Amino acid sequence: MLTTNPFDDDKLHEECGLFGVSALDSAAALVALGLHALQHRGQEAAGITSFDGKYFHTHRAMGHVAGNFDRDEVIGGLPGTIACGHVRYSTTGETALRNVQPLYAELAAGGFAIAHNGNISNAMRLRRDLVERGAIFQSTSDTEVIIHLVATSSYRDPLDRFIDALRRVEGAYSLVVMTPDSMIACRDPLGFRPLVMGKLDDAIIFASETVALDVVGAEFVRAVDPGELVIVQGTEIRSLRPFTPQAPRACVFEWVYFSRPDSIVGDKSVYSVRKAIGAQLAIESPVDADLVIPVPDSGVPAAIGFAQQSGIPFELGIIRSHYVGRTFIQPGDKVRRLGVKLKHNANRALIKGKSVVLIDDSIVRGTTSLKIVEMMREAGASQVHMRIASPPTRNSCFYGVDTPERAKLLAAQMDVRGMTDFIHADTLAFVSIDGLYKALGESGRAPVMPGYCDACFTGDYPTPLTDQAEANPADLLALHPEPAE
Ligand code: SF4
Repeated sequence: MLTTNPFDDDKLHEECGLFGVSALDSAAALVALGLHALQHRGQEAAGITSFDGKYFHTHRAMGHVAGNFDRDEVIGGLPGTIACGHVRYSTTGETALRNVQPLYAELAAGGFAIAHNGNISNAMRLRRDLVERGAIFQSTSDTEVIIHLVATSSYRDPLDRFIDALRRVEGAYSLVVMTPDSMIACRDPLGFRPLVMGKLDDAIIFASETVALDVVGAEFVRAVDPGELVIVQGTEIRSLRPFTPQAPRACVFEWVYFSRPDSIVGDKSVYSVRKAIGAQLAIESPVDADLVIPVPDSGVPAAIGFAQQSGIPFELGIIRSHYVGRTFIQPGDKVRRLGVKLKHNANRALIKGKSVVLIDDSIVRGTTSLKIVEMMREAGASQVHMRIASPPTRNSCFYGVDTPERAKLLAAQMDVRGMTDFIHADTLAFVSIDGLYKALGESGRAPVMPGYCDACFTGDYPTPLTDQAEANPADLLALHPEPAE
């Protein structure tokens, strides 16, 4: 499968989305709807596990939620009043059905299903130790490590075993877990990835983003806190905070790009933050242009903010077709190039002879930015300026986001002048790291920044990177000082 969207294949990809519901008839049907609302968090595969009071049932499939989970025979095969689901974009583990979640195992205390958003940064080390002690892994997913740690914990109580397992993993995990008598939602102590709780009549829902609650008609209750376990047993809800409290480090990229603009993440409207970043960009890097043009779709809120702040008209200079699937099999290079035009096209009549400022959320490899700038020039733009609603992405993410290795990140290879030449723009500017935090309602970036992870911009990784240090220490940013602008 090759992506036909030229603007998606050069993006960072969120690894996963989670949705779980307890105490609702036909729970799996609601999970399918919730996963559909979270499809942007992972398009590679999806899965749902339900429990009918006696047996667990799982259906996992490659591809989108629609087409796999909108058939009666599939949902009918997932009976029960408790269910959880997962959409996936793999970063660890190969693309194969055996890695599609929820993962399930029969443990001493009964069935155990787990759906995970994030990435365990010491999974390889733990896996090696477990294999040496006789563990047999079914998948190459880092999530399976948690199952084995639960299975081999020396504690007796199933909940204590789970907490014991989590104490041994490093990195990012938002989890929804199902056992025969409970659903457990939890976030790692730093709260990298979001997870919220909602209510639909008597049913309790957990979801990666508030948009999934909106879509199924549920009421937002609150976020699951970093380091918190919320345990639902029937209608009883308990909260445990078994970890040493730490200052949270929520992924700042959730506001920049990953989350849907109609979600609320950490009490902040994603849409409002993106608009504020665009306004900040207009203040920091003004440009004399005729039109502000968003790169669809993720550049739209920032472009509105830039246009409102600068007074330059906002126009749709790139038109997106809504009738082309995100992916399809493409037989060759020639057809692939046709596919590019099928999805997005320059609004030639608008652009001809105009100086345009393009707004995008990020630059990863730079290949997409180059294509877009060329598209504008082919359509007759007199000047093409690019403004980016995030600081330069210079470092890989090890917390559940698919980033290319550092050497392939354009901003790790060259300064802004070099990047401007690379993408053939007249000018290029990124929002500053202080500007990003101002848009988030902070006063700027403190030298030690509690509250957020911004390691892909700054290299300030909030946890040890055990596997990375063992496998490829030279790639750690600690060894790469910030390049000069
Ligand atoms: Fe998010 Fe970047 Fe931190 Fe990864 S490194 S969690 S993408 S801010």
